[in-house]
Amino acid sequence: MNKVIIIGGGIAGLSAGIYAQQNGFRTEIYEKNPEVGGECTGWNRKGYHIDNCIHWLTGCRKGDGLWEIWKNVGALDESTKFYREPYFYMLDMEGRQLHFWIDLEKARKEFLVLAPDDGVEIHKFFDSVKLAESLKIPCEKSPADMNFIEFIKFGMSMPQMGRVMKEYGKETVVELAQRFKNPFLRKMMGGYYNEKFMAVTLISSYAFFTGETAAIPMGGSKEMAQRMAKVYQALGGKLHQNMPVTGINIEGKKAVSVTFNDGSQAAGDYIISAADTSVTFGSLLDKKYMDKKLKKMYGCKEGYPVTSSFQAAFGILGAEDCGVPGGSVMFPCDSFEVGRQKLTFQAIRLYDYDESLFPKEKRVIQCNILQDERDYEYWKELYEDSDRYEAEKQRIADTVMKQIILKFPALEGRLVLLGTYSPITFERWCGAYKGAYMSFFGQKGYKSLYAKNKAAGLDNVFIASQWLQLNGGLPLAVTSGKFAAQAMRKR
Ligand SMILES: Cc1cc2nc3c(=O)[nH]c(=O)nc-3n(C[C@H](O)[C@H](O)[C@H](O)COP(=O)(O)OP(=O)(O)OC[C@H]3O[C@@H](n4cnc5c(N)ncnc54)[C@H](O)[C@@H]3O)c2cc1C
Repeated sequence: MNKVIIIGGGIAGLSAGIYAQQNGFRTEIYEKNPEVGGECTGWNRKGYHIDNCIHWLTGCRKGDGLWEIWKNVGALDESTKFYREPYFYMLDMEGRQLHFWIDLEKARKEFLVLAPDDGVEIHKFFDSVKLAESLKIPCEKSPADMNFIEFIKFGMSMPQMGRVMKEYGKETVVELAQRFKNPFLRKMMGGYYNEKFMAVTLISSYAFFTGETAAIPMGGSKEMAQRMAKVYQALGGKLHQNMPVTGINIEGKKAVSVTFNDGSQAAGDYIISAADTSVTFGSLLDKKYMDKKLKKMYGCKEGYPVTSSFQAAFGILGAEDCGVPGGSVMFPCDSFEVGRQKLTFQAIRLYDYDESLFPKEKRVIQCNILQDERDYEYWKELYEDSDRYEAEKQRIADTVMKQIILKFPALEGRLVLLGTYSPITFERWCGAYKGAYMSFFGQKGYKSLYAKNKAAGLDNVFIASQWLQLNGGLPLAVTSGKFAAQAMRKR
């Protein structure tokens, strides 16, 4: 039986391990951290739980291709309980609240009552969200391996998306916002994501909610990864934690073994690298083995930038009502600086929907502030001086806490800081490229690229990672694992 070494026990690595075991390979996963999950994780602080990944999991609609994959890897099953949020996010400004309700008609009505003059654009927008519910993520075959006909066929399996792309395909969220006259609607459309994000990203993310494929599985991110690890081990896979790989050893056109940080080695017939691709092609392998499309995405900052975030998590003392609405809420605040950005809005999220993680007396508020590549450089430099780095994180956390209390006075004296995380945290934890936890965000005028899941010029090295496609996220991680195992079997 062929032996496969899998580097990295994130969602892509675990998925690759499960599919490879099911295809008759003997696999071993080597994960650098003491636990699996990679970016799909959570942890306890001061008696509270911080769920640091799943805001929504796409693929929670039974019967979909993605649902079958999540089921196969043990992340979900027939008995999984889901939390379905009432809205995607909400704007709370000048005493008014505007929601992207999951009930599309309820949202449409709310928008029309607030801004009747924007009626035409409102209808166009909500009709497009409805059409975008047809959006599918490739689950059978990697898009990079599809031939022209397969690619066209896949596109034709969601014909409604063509109309959405025709209307909004060339617009950023800010341009989408400019279609509206009403300032609330403008803020709602253009103020939640980074201003250069494409409008279709907003529309399709919202459509995942309205189409009920997006939900939160109870038990949280960490438990989901652990369920996958159990399935992997039950199939005979071997899991090694605390085992950072430092290099892939090549002879001719083949990888023969990997080296660990203690100098020891393990031999394998095949290697699947499921580490962040910046680690694979940089630390583990020479960049000359990188697929040309992946190289293009890394090389073109204007077209394919990455985003990261600064986060602060607060525990709420006591079980009494705190006046904070559930889910994600965006509200104006006094201007403050994070990284190199000046912010005048704050977005927070209340974690109260899962009794097993956030019982009434242990609810959590998280604040996730998007950062771009310039901010990453700022944090990288600051990190060199640990006192200044820690002081800056504390300053932002204090400011954010003050802003939250100003908005929700019932929280006065009831917030306890659980932790702050900068892009450097994710870089250190997972080797995340520039601290990004999703992948590249294709900009206006730049095509979607699909990188091959094989190291160029090597016969037996395959890649599983969210970074092979734009946007990233858990669905791309789990499907990339399946596709890497498929490619290996084909070989
Ligand atoms: C705050 C936050 C919120 C998110 N929210 C969502 C969401 O709501 N929905 C969604 O779909 N996605 C979300 N994501 C993104 C999601 O977590 C990622 O897309 C996904 O987990 C990436 O999986 P991966 O396996 O490709 O990469 P990773 O998770 O980075 O896994 C790579 C693994 O390789 C290991 N590794 C790296 N180098 C080595 C080495 N040298 N040797 C051995 N092991 C190594 C790492 O430790 C890690 O375990 C979120 C992420 C974060 C951080």
